[in-house]
Amino acid sequence: MAVREIRLYPDPVLRRPAKPVTRVTKKLARLAQDMAETMYAANGVGLAAPQVGKGVRLAVVDVGDGLITLFNPVIVAREGTAVDVEGCLSIPKITAYVERAAQVTVEALDLEGRPFRVEADGLLARALQHEIDHLDGILIVDRATRLFREEEREGEEEPVAVEIDREELLRQEVAP
Ligand SMILES: [Zn+2]
Repeated sequence: MAVREIRLYPDPVLRRPAKPVTRVTKKLARLAQDMAETMYAANGVGLAAPQVGKGVRLAVVDVGDGLITLFNPVIVAREGTAVDVEGCLSIPKITAYVERAAQVTVEALDLEGRPFRVEADGLLARALQHEIDHLDGILIVDRATRLFREEEREGEEEPVAVEIDREELLRQEVAP
């Protein structure tokens, strides 16, 4: 296993929709293990393949209840809405308030290529929706109702959260 480089916004790979996995090969299983190691090393709760430069529909999630590896994840049911704060390993120092479904049911394939289903609420539901968005090239900057940047200030021990304009961030993306 190896820690991979996390691609940072505005890397265009983050905007490319990922391709479905036709078969969980050994190479893809190794990629999934590397992604888990990369996520843990960065203290994240989820990571999607485009974030390590791979355009395949693969994500890993661990909100503290164990690692879930998902190939071709699809949200098959959603219920309610919840707004909470989110960060993204590809967009450091930015936090966003994002409205998500409060509960989701996700179907995916596991490391052995077997179908499974997760019913989730709370942080797990949020993390699953965040990672599946990555597979479609959608980022928290697109969904945010409010965006904040952590800034170091002289005389302050903790970074200060400064509200920023979405357009300010989106301008960093170069038109293709
Ligand atoms: Zn993210």
